[in-house]
Amino acid sequence: MKVLIAEDDPVSRRVLEGFLTNWGYELVITQDGEEAWQALAQEDAPQLAILDWMMPRMDGLEVCRRVRERNAEPYVYILLLTAKSQKQDVVEGINAGADDYLSKPFDAGELQARLRAGRRILALQGALISARDALRFQATHDPLTGLWNRLAATDALRRELARARRRQSSVAVLLGDLDRFKTINDTYGHLAGDAALREVARRMRTNVRVYDTVARYGGEEFLFVLPDCDMEAALEQGERLRQAFDREPLDLPDARIPQTLSLGVASVDAKAEALAEEMLRVADQALYRAKERGRNRVEPASEAELARCLTLSPREGEARHRKRNGGRRSAA
Ligand code: GH3
Ligand code: MG
Ligand code: MG
Ligand code: MG
Repeated sequence: MKVLIAEDDPVSRRVLEGFLTNWGYELVITQDGEEAWQALAQEDAPQLAILDWMMPRMDGLEVCRRVRERNAEPYVYILLLTAKSQKQDVVEGINAGADDYLSKPFDAGELQARLRAGRRILALQGALISARDALRFQATHDPLTGLWNRLAATDALRRELARARRRQSSVAVLLGDLDRFKTINDTYGHLAGDAALREVARRMRTNVRVYDTVARYGGEEFLFVLPDCDMEAALEQGERLRQAFDREPLDLPDARIPQTLSLGVASVDAKAEALAEEMLRVADQALYRAKERGRNRVEPASEAELARCLTLSPREGEARHRKRNGGRRSAA
């Protein structure tokens, strides 16, 4: 475990260095607050800091305040070490953001115990951060394919539409549905079907730009959100995806299975307010036509359908959406 020491007095510094090295800590040693603040701003900085209060250039209290103001992760546990020991000094130190306080001259056993307490807090905080990140991932991703889920992709579409409006650019959505996918389950079983979906997802990811969003929209339906993409480019991208499947069967552990993809495409020039829900709806209608016209096809939304995506105001669009959904507000 790395510990930062900030202490301007060379004798105290050496004493601290001696103890901490003995206890097995890896040290980052600084001689004033300014140097300590710089060290704490580094990547991979120590999470445990022992700060002297009175130091030249910047005192320990100011370092505390800055660290807390930055409010960054991971948390830095701060132990203030000082000759000041009045009650109001303790209060001032804790108020500035210190977690603990030790008066000089300090007792080695006490310092060791307080460092251990600090490590316990940090370990707890680390576990909470990991749990939160895992939950965040679960809430936004599809567990089978690792792609974004429907909710996350719809959010991404709303964000991209807002951004496109600011930058006067366009946004496209492609809605893809695997053709006759049920036959894979019927012929090879559900597990093979799952493996096929994972392989499909992998192939989709390798066939889009890094800043495009690929999501599992439903069972064997996939949504692509493509920023900066007009109708012409979107149709080209759709065709590229269609071919990526048409050209090469899915390579599964026990079989090579032909699998094609049908796609519906919509793109809006986001100068006006475009509605995410409406775009998804017209892309779905285009997809329906692709199925009807024989599958393994890319179908564009019509001009009339696209015009419907551009509403006068978000409020109007929301009202329209609510009406269609029987009074319910949209999900986000
Ligand atoms: P179409 O060309 O009209 O789209 O035909 P289809 O068979 O793909 O369409 P349909 O909607 O009739 O069937 C979809 C199938 O996808 C049925 C369902 O069992 C399968 N499916 C959906 N989600 C999963 C999944 O997570 N795992 C597996 N193995 N199959 C899934
Ligand atoms: Mg000092
Ligand atoms: Mg299908
Ligand atoms: Mg389907």
